[in-house]
Amino acid sequence: MKDKIKIAVFDTKNYDRTYFDKLCPDNFELTYFEHKLNKGTVDSTKGFDVVVPFVNDDLDKQVIDGLVNNKIKLIAMRCSGYNNVDLRYLKDKLKIARVPWYSPYAVAEHAIAMLLCLNRRIHRAFIRTRDHNFSLDGLTGWDLYGKTAGVIGTGKIGRIFIDICRGFGMEVLAYDPFPVDDPSINYVELDELLEKSDVISLHCPLTENTNRMINKDTIKKMKDTVTVINTSRGALIDSKALLEALVEKRIGAAALDVYEEEVDIFFEDCSEEIIDDEILTRLVSLPNVIITSHQAFLTKEALENIAKVTLGNIKEFFETNKLTNEIVQ
Ligand code: NAD
Repeated sequence: MKDKIKIAVFDTKNYDRTYFDKLCPDNFELTYFEHKLNKGTVDSTKGFDVVVPFVNDDLDKQVIDGLVNNKIKLIAMRCSGYNNVDLRYLKDKLKIARVPWYSPYAVAEHAIAMLLCLNRRIHRAFIRTRDHNFSLDGLTGWDLYGKTAGVIGTGKIGRIFIDICRGFGMEVLAYDPFPVDDPSINYVELDELLEKSDVISLHCPLTENTNRMINKDTIKKMKDTVTVINTSRGALIDSKALLEALVEKRIGAAALDVYEEEVDIFFEDCSEEIIDDEILTRLVSLPNVIITSHQAFLTKEALENIAKVTLGNIKEFFETNKLTNEIVQ
């Protein structure tokens, strides 16, 4: 009998394991680690053929060297973003694949869920009525109908977000340096989008160009009532500038599923700890901010697709030496 392909899956929780276990082929052996893959843990990849990292693992030069030394044959990211991998350094050392598509609907719908929650003060009403407080004071929202949504990044998720906004009767402005060929999308320059939008939702990847694209200067161009939604990557926003603008009422509200400094906090229960991040704790305390813990992907359909495509990438690589979902370095 041939040896099983040994696969180390990092930063896992029960909800990940359910779908990987369900779909695991007989010739794969999965080992789940709760810890993240980073320079402190790269030794735990010894003896494995494949590593399966997630969004907050850190594949820097030292980790890549460790993977090469430990004779890892494939990095199979179980996410679509790969801003946490030093791709330049990885080039010609190791193959890397990702899950390019698992459920853009999950993320777009979560962005909308956050928008509606904030706008209609559902987060506050929920707490009030549990305390038998049925007062409506302070819960006045505003209609989405007739307002303008600005969508930054019109890839898979951004386009679904646009469709949903149109369903609400919103006008949609879009910005993307690589526009899609769709005459129904009203592309404008970034400044125009920032100036005219009542809601701004980020759906672009984190790159050198997009790092902190929402900052002191770009916030100055926005309406002082704007709701900013980020379900993409935390570092698209300069969180300190966002906090200052919220406190000084220069923007209306923020819905954040991702945060620049989320690595050691998001996905974890920190309720017994004192969080040493004043920006995050202050943001959480504001009535016009809601934060979810990088949860936008978390639907049954997405988790099943993530497991299916990740395991499929590994199978394809070992059986045919091809990698359809390779991240081209
Ligand atoms: P995609 O690759 O289909 O689309 C990204 C779009 O962004 C592309 O159209 C691209 O041209 C555009 N873009 C690139 N640079 C830009 C810039 N400077 N300004 C504006 N647009 C720019 O990606 P997707 O599947 O739609 O995912 C978008 C992002 O969502 C991912 O990069 C990832 O960071 C994030 N994401 C988050 C979660 C979550 O759980 N919160 C889950 C999946 C993906």
